[in-house]
Amino acid sequence: MYRALYRSFRPARFSDVVGQELAVKVLRNAVRRDRIAHAYLLSGPRGTGKTSLAKIMARAVNCLQPQDGEPCGECSVCLGAGLHTVEIDAASNRGIDEIRDLRERARYAPPEGRFRVYIVDEVHMLTTEAFNALLKLLEEPPPQLLFLLATTEPHRLPATVLSRCQRLSLLPHTEENIEQQLRAIAPEAEIDLAPEAARLIARKADGSMRDALALVELCAGHGEGSVDLDTVLLATGSLDDAEITRFLDLVEKRDARAALDWLGVQESRGADLRQLAGDAIGILRRRMHEAFAERREAEAAGRLRTLERLAALDADLRRGMEPRLAWELVAAEGLPDPVAVQAVQASTAGTAANEARQASRPTESAAPRPVPRAPRPAASPRAKPNPAATAVSSEFRANFVARLKEPRAKAVLEHAQVYDGGESWEVRFRAPPFLAVAETPDVERDIRSALERTGGSRPIRFTLSQQGGD
Ligand SMILES: [Zn+2]
Repeated sequence: MYRALYRSFRPARFSDVVGQELAVKVLRNAVRRDRIAHAYLLSGPRGTGKTSLAKIMARAVNCLQPQDGEPCGECSVCLGAGLHTVEIDAASNRGIDEIRDLRERARYAPPEGRFRVYIVDEVHMLTTEAFNALLKLLEEPPPQLLFLLATTEPHRLPATVLSRCQRLSLLPHTEENIEQQLRAIAPEAEIDLAPEAARLIARKADGSMRDALALVELCAGHGEGSVDLDTVLLATGSLDDAEITRFLDLVEKRDARAALDWLGVQESRGADLRQLAGDAIGILRRRMHEAFAERREAEAAGRLRTLERLAALDADLRRGMEPRLAWELVAAEGLPDPVAVQAVQASTAGTAANEARQASRPTESAAPRPVPRAPRPAASPRAKPNPAATAVSSEFRANFVARLKEPRAKAVLEHAQVYDGGESWEVRFRAPPFLAVAETPDVERDIRSALERTGGSRPIRFTLSQQGGD
């Protein structure tokens, strides 16, 4: 059976948990001193190990021979099928039946071990009714009950629930921690992971260990078991730092023609110009800090100006501006204004965005500002999920996935759900790196064509699901 890397390599003991020292210490000490609260709330961004910690805690409190606060890993509880633990995913079924059932069962002692443990994932998604039931249990907790609540959005929990939990905040993983963990796991997973590939994946994962491991898998599938820097760049549509630095130098030198050429070449190679914004901003920030630290003030000030320009570009992209156009406006800034507009037009003649630009271009030829804005594309990938859409049937999904030709499209669809929004189809991705891969031109084309052949021609939207859960 296929098991995702992050499931196969879940830490089994507190001492195996990477990072999160404070939360680990609190939980482990509680077990060690046998002073266990009735409810713990583990909050933090996705992929920070909330569920993994909860699972370790569930074993530790019931372990028949705990060792210094750790579960032994050998007793019937540690090896058992988890009769003492119930996991509820509030995001998928809203939890009302389980909580109702729980109030009934809470009156009896657990079948084995000392505690009946309830792990509630994405607890903020519980219905009001389920919350009220949960609150009743928290107000007068039966002694053998332990709640381990996990959420990405603690601010959405009622104060009455918050005040009855011991709160543990998990932090996003550092890039160093992620990189280290990837390099530790790769040999065990029989993946030949190059150090610079591990570093780039760690950066792309945005603090989420789970996303990092999923990216390793995605790249390993792409590179047949070995993952080098090129595989990661290709799989994610990213560019390496040296290339991006070369481009930034052209922008800063105001060499507009070379910068525009560079953009054309990278786009034709399938680079994701949307991702380029985040990557370029990251590189510029590092260079700016270096310049400040080494007291090269003039250079630092120059970098700061470019950084400001890129922040504006990033905002344009978020508002739905077409990425190629947004970048060309930055690249063309080295040219006198009217020339810049012509250069942009010449370099993108024939692209769809060009027509939009023609339509909205100010008539005075000497005034290229205000910036001509491309209309938000019909299939804007950064649209919000449509709450009224319903998930397609598993049969529909199977037919759709069977029609995919691109290996990368198949891989990212493992991290996405397809929704029927009535007028449109929606592909909801679990995390930004997968959406980024889906947005690379070849992958996007493949997903669209397979979906249209399965469900008929409708607008297709790519969105990000905000749901967390480990
Ligand atoms: Zn044990």
